[in-house]
Formats: sequence, structure tokens, C-alpha cells
Amino acid sequence: MGENMSKRLKLVTGSESEMEERSFINPFPDREPREQGLSGSPSAAEHSGANEPLDAGGKVCDLAFKKGKNAIKTFLKSVNSLQKYIHINPNIDMFLPVNTLLYLQLYRVTQEASHLQRALDYVKRALRNLNGRRVSFLCGDAGPLAVGAVVHHHLKNQTESQDRLIALNMLRSSLKGHLAQITCKIVVTAVLESGKNLSKEEKKAERCPLLYEWHKKQYVGAAHGLAGIYYMLMQPSAKVSQDTLNELVRPSVDYVRHKKFRSGNYPSSLSNETDRLVHWCHGAPGVLHMLIMTHKVFKDEKYLRDAAECGEVIWQRGLLRKGYGLCHGTAGNGYALLSLYHATQDKKYLYRACKFAEWCLDYGTHGCRIPDRPYSLFEGMAGAIHYLSDVIQPEGSCFPAFEL
Ligand SMILES: [Zn+2]
Repeated sequence: MGENMSKRLKLVTGSESEMEERSFINPFPDREPREQGLSGSPSAAEHSGANEPLDAGGKVCDLAFKKGKNAIKTFLKSVNSLQKYIHINPNIDMFLPVNTLLYLQLYRVTQEASHLQRALDYVKRALRNLNGRRVSFLCGDAGPLAVGAVVHHHLKNQTESQDRLIALNMLRSSLKGHLAQITCKIVVTAVLESGKNLSKEEKKAERCPLLYEWHKKQYVGAAHGLAGIYYMLMQPSAKVSQDTLNELVRPSVDYVRHKKFRSGNYPSSLSNETDRLVHWCHGAPGVLHMLIMTHKVFKDEKYLRDAAECGEVIWQRGLLRKGYGLCHGTAGNGYALLSLYHATQDKKYLYRACKFAEWCLDYGTHGCRIPDRPYSLFEGMAGAIHYLSDVIQPEGSCFPAFEL
């Protein structure tokens, strides 16, 4: 995603000036080893006071927490201004489940009842517009029904919650033919078969046994590419056998690893030799998730070392001129740092994630370009809010609709 927007930039391909053009020079000092915030030792927060995001215990400090919450309130006002537009334009119903998800996340983090109420407002509106034409989560009836069940469950409206679940089940059983039989297993099997077939066609069965392409390109990143597919195949819920993981997934991951640039970043596609993009959709921030998952599954430290290398690239080149969103923005890159923090428990990454959040707090002041969908979860302000809410309570954070 964002590739078309990239093409519009007038850049010198692959040069240092291009890298600068695509990201801002990171103005933040890195966390010094003496500032690790070990209990009983002087911490960064104590040395420099209000500017440090972590307290003596290495937790997000009160001031950073307060700043984050205040910014969320301000940004939400802008996102809520969309409501008027939604009333007059039924074609953007997909915002409804997405905004409901955002408010559910805010409720999870803050436990403020007003967020749950707002989630209910959004989902009620979506539920009034069910039309039976689509069954997908974002654009069809399934999303509002599923999210509605969750909202009512939190509100302890058990009858309403059950009603939504019954309607969801009816929707599933109303599907015709083989679609009704769809299970995770069938999908996973189809994904594996497709990957094996293309790999064979391309005569890469030895080096990369699972190969995929989209729009005739073999993309690498998390949004449309190999890293995102391998990441999903390694999820425990995908139930891929250990033999398949060993024989097909691991060598494919290693194939992608060998495409790493000297900088530690990754190409956007296998045919692309330029070290340009540091986004969740293309580049190290998306590949990092695959590497962390590979480390979890195979317990080999080399994957975590590669993920840490991605973390360095993100720290250097991750404050993006494309904006603050999740897909190709600073918030998405911040999520990679949070994931690295979860995997390593190294406070350095939490500190860096907080600094990326600090950057997002100054939303709109850096001269970034305005995304095509400026309020959306994946490109716009809703994504930045989601990130801020996760940073202030980082232990349970996860990249929405991607990390499971
Ligand atoms: Zn993107």
C-alpha cells in the first residue's frame, strides 16, 4: 500500500538523499545504557525530568501517559467530525466497524464508559444498514454483527449480544455451496498449495518452497507479501504441521532473510533492488513481525538478531514523511518497536516506541503529506490514536487486525 503515492515523489532512486526524502532525520537521542531505569539507580526521568517517557522502573511515566491521553481526546474530536459525513454518505459504512474497533480499544486501555458508549453509537448505526449483500468483516454484515456482539457483551446486555451472535451464525449458514464449508484448515491448505505451485513454476522449489505474487509482483512486505503470509502460517491458530513448518515455511523465511539489504532493511519485492521503503507494508517494519514469529516457532536466536537489526533501521529511518498511520506511517513503525519490546523485554525498544508516539503527538506539524484517507485506521488519524492508546499501556499492545 502506498506504492502509488511513492511514485509521485520526485526522488533520486536508491540514493542517500532519497532516504532522507522519505523519512525525517530522527531528532531524538537514543536511550543511554546508564539510563536503563534499573530499580534503585538514577533514571533518565530523574535526570532530565519531564521529557523522558519512562520512569525509574522502566514504565511509561505519568506525564507521558497524561500527554498521550490528552492527545487522544483532541484527535478524537477530528475523527468524530466524520460522523456528519457518514450520515450523508452510506457508501463509507466500512468506517463504522473500524471506528467501533478503535473505541473498543480505547475502552480496553482506559476503561472509560464514554468510549464504550461511542462504540455502541457507531455499531448501532452500522447494524441499521445491514443489507445481506456481503459477508465480509469490513465491508459487509459480518463486521457490525461481530463487533456489536462484543460491545453488548461489555455493556452486559447479554440478550442483545446473543442476538448478534445468532444473526452472525445465520449469515454463515446462509452461504451457498462450498463457501459454507470454509474453515481455517481449507484456507491454510489453499494458501500452501498456491505457494508451492508458484514456487515450482518459478523453479524456486529448492530455495523458496512457498512463493506468492500480487499484481504480477512477488512482494516481500507484511501487507501484500511473503512476510505477511509466512507470519500468518506460523500462527498457532493456523495449525500448520511441524513438518510443513520445517520443510516449507522455514526455508522460505530464510530465503527472504537473504534478501536483506546491507542497511538491514528489506526490498519491497523480490525484483526490486532499491533500499527505499521502511513501512509496515513494505520493508523492515513488516518483515520484523515475521522474524519475531519465526524466532518463537523455531527458537533460533538468529531470527531475533535480524529482527533487532530491523529495529535499528526503523529507529533511524522510521519517522516517515508519508504521515502517521499504520500502513506506511510512523505509528505502524512504532508498532514494530513495541513488538520488539515484547519479544526481548529490552526497555530500549519501549523507549523508542514512546519517542515515536511523541512524534505522533505533534500530528500535522511536520509537513507530512495528507494521506488519501486522512481519518482511516490504516492510513490516517485513527491509526495514530490506536497506537498512542497502546503505547500508554504497552504490555497488551498489538498491531490492529494483524497481530493476533
Ligand atoms: Zn502502506
